[in-house]
Amino acid sequence: MWADAHDLDLDLKKANFGRNPTFYQQNPPPTTTLPLTLLRFQKVKMFTHRLVFPASVLRGRGAIKHLGSMCGRLGQRALLVGGKRAIASVEASVIDQLEQQMVSYLGHEVLSGECCQEEISRLAEAFRVQGVEVIIATGGGRALDTAKAAGVACNLPVVTLPSIPGTCAAVTSLAFRYHQDGRFRDMLPLNYGPAAAVIDADLLAQAPLNWLAAGIGDTLAKWYEYRAISDEHNLTGLAGVARTNSALCFTQIEHFAADACLAVEQGKANNALEQVLDAIFLYAGLTSIMSNGAHTGAAHALYEGFTVCSKTRHFPHGLLVGFGNLCLLALENRSDDELQAALALARASAIPTQLAHLSAELTEQDLASIIDHSLTAPDMANMPFEVDFAAMKAAIERVDSLGRSLI
Ligand SMILES: [Zn+2]
Repeated sequence: MWADAHDLDLDLKKANFGRNPTFYQQNPPPTTTLPLTLLRFQKVKMFTHRLVFPASVLRGRGAIKHLGSMCGRLGQRALLVGGKRAIASVEASVIDQLEQQMVSYLGHEVLSGECCQEEISRLAEAFRVQGVEVIIATGGGRALDTAKAAGVACNLPVVTLPSIPGTCAAVTSLAFRYHQDGRFRDMLPLNYGPAAAVIDADLLAQAPLNWLAAGIGDTLAKWYEYRAISDEHNLTGLAGVARTNSALCFTQIEHFAADACLAVEQGKANNALEQVLDAIFLYAGLTSIMSNGAHTGAAHALYEGFTVCSKTRHFPHGLLVGFGNLCLLALENRSDDELQAALALARASAIPTQLAHLSAELTEQDLASIIDHSLTAPDMANMPFEVDFAAMKAAIERVDSLGRSLI
């Protein structure tokens, strides 16, 4: 039955909530009211570490062929939720899958705009009105996060079917919430993770290359940032797993990124793409889970800086983080050789390697405001050394200069 998709059963609870909709009411997971900053690395000694895994992960080429049987175990009335383009690309396959299992297809709900509380509440109300029993969420991070949060609000199982590989949102129990105007609001911890994540390499090979590059940039950050903020001689078991996983993220991408990009350019999945997708969704997801989300540093702080500038904020998260990774290496005073190797890997992965790749019109004033904002971003507080304006500016200039001289 599982001929070409591996069923990685990561579940600790062997979720059975499709047949028992009150499962989570009877078994409420522990929650924390601690602000995120207190959950950061090295500040978690008194905190109960909550590990929330997706119940099942189906990965590989043709994984979508198991969507119907997966949904059939969870409920009899399914709704597809996602962005317009994502719905258009998967709806026929979803209907076919549900018909094979005699699961009723209730239609689709199009998400527009941000993952904001208003949209989460609107969607949750739609689930209640339509008597939804299982949600199929498709699209990128924002769509998946909105659907996950609305599903949890209604105590319903959510099956994620990512159509672009820009983040690991398909497997996490977090929603990145924004305000309606696009400003970042918070990271909302959800009481449970996806009932299943269906990561189909054939489907993801059709996504624009920019999204694979973004996923790679964000996944490389797992290694560059976790290496920077963790002390390899003083790791707890969980931190050790997070670090080992983040190293695996790096080696998989180092080996397979170039061929994976080729696969996406040709719209045809290959083994390299599968390996890179595993890094983006599984290993990066595990680093996030094992570190309780406390794995970020200067690369993400610089990303937050880029979001205040109208010339750079439209870039996918992972592409800005990807450039931030290089600046982090420069901040750490790594050698030119090491930096050049990282730049070559970034370029092979379609990640920006110079400021002009982000915007040809960045002024000194824009850059100063980006840097100022990055220095006060919460992610910067995780760095083991002080980063000031001059250091950040010098790091960006060094990367930009080496990036421009890449042959
Ligand atoms: Zn990120």
